[in-house]
Amino acid sequence: MRYEAPGSVDEAVALLAGADGCRVLAGGTDLLVQLRAGMISPSVIVDIKNIPELTSISEKDGVFTVGAAVPGAELSEHAALCKAWPGVVEGMDLVGSTQIQGRASLGGNLCNASPAADSVPAMIAARAVCIIAGPNGQREAPVEDVAIGPGKTSLAKGEFVVSIRLPKRPPHSGDAYLRFIPRTEMDIAVVGAGVSLTLDDSGTCTDARVSLGAVAARALIVDAGAKALIGTKVDDAALEALGAACSAAATPITDKRGTIEFRTKVSGVMARRAAAIALERARSN
Ligand SMILES: Cc1cc2nc3c(=O)[nH]c(=O)nc-3n(C[C@H](O)[C@H](O)[C@H](O)COP(=O)(O)OP(=O)(O)OC[C@H]3O[C@@H](n4cnc5c(N)ncnc54)[C@H](O)[C@@H]3O)c2cc1C
Repeated sequence: MRYEAPGSVDEAVALLAGADGCRVLAGGTDLLVQLRAGMISPSVIVDIKNIPELTSISEKDGVFTVGAAVPGAELSEHAALCKAWPGVVEGMDLVGSTQIQGRASLGGNLCNASPAADSVPAMIAARAVCIIAGPNGQREAPVEDVAIGPGKTSLAKGEFVVSIRLPKRPPHSGDAYLRFIPRTEMDIAVVGAGVSLTLDDSGTCTDARVSLGAVAARALIVDAGAKALIGTKVDDAALEALGAACSAAATPITDKRGTIEFRTKVSGVMARRAAAIALERARSN
């Protein structure tokens, strides 16, 4: 197995496109575990952490561009990002422990393609877009189009995610991510819910986006949940309707962490609670 640490996006693309069995290495908190367990045996490992675009956070006119390999700890320390997108930051902040936070990245969380990845519903709710580099240049794809099933991405050979773009926040908007786990930390989501919403000056919801994790083969976008909020004051009735829409949209499996019935019910509960937090944040913006 060869280890490469290119210093530019173009060099990384050339390496990834040039051989079969290449794997990108960001924080390694999934990749190295899978290597050690013998689940994967790549021919080349391409460490992307020496590429400046991959490890920086920038903001222009309210739009944030987050390098795909920036560790979670740096997101949490970025005051402007935390203010604009607290839900995205808290989704990533729930990943692992303090040690894991020093390594684990948004790009790795997305491209590992776990249906339970914590940052993904929050990024989808935020309408985040991936900047992807590959042999044919750069392209953009919404986050929801990248992780398409357990362990599967839509990235073509030679492609990797360079950065994640978070749009400009309108006034009176807020987001939140909540997950249910049986323990208080260091566990995988049984259900995760990301909600982002915008209010007008009178407090009526004008836009909303709702995403659920861990209740289908990939993170879900729940349009009916968003519709339940839009046009309302996000009152109890709207939150009830949101919860019902999320429970109806969930198509979970039963596994050792939760049954279908439990996950279905908790989908509605997590979405309602996340929406209530997003609402408070929107009111204070
Ligand atoms: C103890 C522990 C606790 C954890 N807890 C959680 C948790 O609570 N919630 C959660 O969601 N996850 C959790 N994880 C999983 C893991 O930490 C996260 O998925 C993390 O965000 C992965 O990021 P990384 O940078 O370490 O990715 P890596 O391990 O470097 O990469 C993961 C995968 O994505 C690919 N990849 C990485 N970056 C890119 C890129 N830019 N473009 C294309 N492909 C790329 C790699 O090739 C690999 O297949 C935990 C892991 C451990 C070991």
